[in-house]
Amino acid sequence: MSEESITAHDTEGASKKVAFIGLGHMGGPMAANLVAAGYQVHGFDVVPAALAAAAEAGVVVCDSSGQAAMDADVIITMLPAGKHVFAALEGEGPGGGLLAAAKPEALFLECSTISVEDARATHKLVSGRGHRALDAPVSGGVMGAQAGTLTFMVGGSEEDFAAAKNLFEVMGKRIVLCGGPGAGQAAKVCNNMILGVSMIAVSEAFVLGEKLGLTHQALFDVAANASGQCWSLTTNCPVPGPVPTSPANRDYQPGFAGSLMAKDLGLAVEALNATGVDAVMGRTAEEIYREFSLDGGASTDFSSIINSIRAASSKTEAD
Ligand code: NAD
Repeated sequence: MSEESITAHDTEGASKKVAFIGLGHMGGPMAANLVAAGYQVHGFDVVPAALAAAAEAGVVVCDSSGQAAMDADVIITMLPAGKHVFAALEGEGPGGGLLAAAKPEALFLECSTISVEDARATHKLVSGRGHRALDAPVSGGVMGAQAGTLTFMVGGSEEDFAAAKNLFEVMGKRIVLCGGPGAGQAAKVCNNMILGVSMIAVSEAFVLGEKLGLTHQALFDVAANASGQCWSLTTNCPVPGPVPTSPANRDYQPGFAGSLMAKDLGLAVEALNATGVDAVMGRTAEEIYREFSLDGGASTDFSSIINSIRAASSKTEAD
């Protein structure tokens, strides 16, 4: 493929064909932003309702992944988990067959959150078939996908990164090349391990503050301007009030769902086991969020972990 054909500026998008596989909560709005920027987007999802919504946004909907990928310069996958990515690449049926259908040197952008190991295997699989690959997971959630303000953490070669940068810039605001194959997923899993641990720490501090007679606002005013400052406190504050935009003010509607935090921490533990890193906090956070997700927290914002901590903290010495 010529360099020109995949370094599309959005003004050149009409001449570029992008296949978008997985048009769910994230993929739907990401594909819509590409259409709005002038790219020809051919999409497929195994769920008809997702296809119908994408058609409304101007995506050319296809009967199969293979049909969407045919002649595409760039193939984006935004799927639930690693097994879905492998199924899309080499599986049978309408949701599979991407590798066979793609033209030589098509550029695969794998944007789903999957394990580092799976990401490296995906690179091998895709490049082994004469195509090119970047792992490019995102953070920023559904709102970031809609607003085109996602952060992309990218793994792969500098040349492929340069070729895809204009597309990333349509869908995101911060685009970081983190290293070679799998480095994007590595950055994502490390970041989200910090996030899971820090949300639990902030929530525990608020519950302790409540027991000690502190108002939420007083603790926030001190910690937000002191050494306790972090995103879990100042952007996604787990109590209503101090940060009006945080999910706590709308009954913990996500935001970032507890099930996704449990998934990402599971991937972190997979990476911890593979590398032998001694990470007591990361492993504990994974246990806490796994239980939380199974126990009714799957579809609420992950900051509602504070309610579990409060419920488990009802005993005092006087009891
Ligand atoms: P989703 O379940 O809403 O969307 C995934 C879509 O993939 C679904 O519509 C499903 O039908 C489709 N699909 C599954 N297998 C397919 C196949 N073989 N071919 C075509 N379509 C197929 O999930 P989402 O919230 O959009 O998340 C997508 C990815 O992004 C996940 O890996 C998730 O961890 C990650 N992510 C999500 C968020 C978030 O806030 N939702 C934030 C960051 C990262």
